[in-house]
Amino acid sequence: MSVSVVEETLNPYKIAQQQVDAAAARLQLPEHVTQILKTPKRVLSVSFSVRMDDGSFRVFEGYRSQHNDAIGPTKGGIRFHPDVTLDEVKALSMWMSFKCGVVGLPYGGGKGGVICDPRRHSKGEIERISRAFMEAISDFVGPDKDIPAPDVYTTPQIMGWMMDTFSRLKGANSPGVITGKPLIIGGSKGRNEATAQGCVYTILAALNDLNLPVLNATAAIQGFGNAGRIAARLLSEAGCKIVAVSDSKGGIYDPNGLDIERVSALKDSGSIREYGESCAITNEALLELDVDVLVPAALENVITAANADRVKARIVAEAANGPTTPEADRVLAKKGVTVIPDVLANAGGVTVSYFEWVQNLMNYYWSEAEVLEKLETNMIQSYVAVRDLAKEHKTDLRTAAYMISIKRIAAAMEARGWI
Ligand code: GLU
Repeated sequence: MSVSVVEETLNPYKIAQQQVDAAAARLQLPEHVTQILKTPKRVLSVSFSVRMDDGSFRVFEGYRSQHNDAIGPTKGGIRFHPDVTLDEVKALSMWMSFKCGVVGLPYGGGKGGVICDPRRHSKGEIERISRAFMEAISDFVGPDKDIPAPDVYTTPQIMGWMMDTFSRLKGANSPGVITGKPLIIGGSKGRNEATAQGCVYTILAALNDLNLPVLNATAAIQGFGNAGRIAARLLSEAGCKIVAVSDSKGGIYDPNGLDIERVSALKDSGSIREYGESCAITNEALLELDVDVLVPAALENVITAANADRVKARIVAEAANGPTTPEADRVLAKKGVTVIPDVLANAGGVTVSYFEWVQNLMNYYWSEAEVLEKLETNMIQSYVAVRDLAKEHKTDLRTAAYMISIKRIAAAMEARGWI
């Protein structure tokens, strides 16, 4: 049997650079402009020690990357994960620039990460890691400099601790330094659901464009964190049939549809796999299910050259950042699969983060209905702009999304006299 193996890089930084190249070529950008966009402007690498519950000290490493601040202060989450690397954080900061650009937020892109596994730490240890990391980056961030937020395995509580540490260091209450905070200390209504909500708005719009009925449209969701879990609930409330979900340990599948409330309760009490032995499915097999909508909502590089030709979904909605490699993009495009790219599909999170920051700066807070209405308007407008440009240029949605944001960033750099 002859197997043809396509060599592709799985380095997220190289992948982000390839994506910039693809859009830059279409926009016929001068080389020096493309070069600026392919490298973060500033990167901070920190190392700090934290006392563990048993009295010992452990040293952690973390990063904060600020990709481009031509449009405004940089913005993007902080990830706590054992596999965090500097290249990953750089790529994620680039994706944040393009995300903010697509949905028209007055921000550039930033991202942070700490190499740690919060699943193996007590609440007290996580608090001390969070506060120590914020202390280490405190001169690098600020409400008009760089504004972090939650990402993989970081929570509103962690944002609260970090905001408190920053405020104490500066001697002034500074809610605008970080978003995704608990409501009582300046969080925004709707922020917790925003990533999933924004993603669902784009899925419903794409189903409509493909003339696929929402009622009983089948969906498989990989990842059961903030994005995946809430997307499962919202899609099921919209009338879709969620046939499979998974978390980092594996998934469950029922072609007749899962009871999402039950799955959610099981996640809280133990494991989603207690749903039923016969329903077990691997994370890999979930990606290959014959469904209308596939939502990768976990980590990068899950749809690659190795499995893209086996993806059977009509729509892939990237709630995660970077789940599809450029090689896989080409395969999916050839198969006619609509990929709603991460920079658009998951932009609801940073959009409501922006609303949170605005509310913090005004010290005046909006109702949930107000937030959701603004989010929906912005997501749909952005989706339509990307879809129409993709049609005009006969390209995929990702390239079109990059074209829109790169044009904006380049115009801001030009207006500042940088290029
Ligand atoms: N971490 C989220 C993202 O990747 C949210 C960023 C933010 O709210 O600033 O888009």
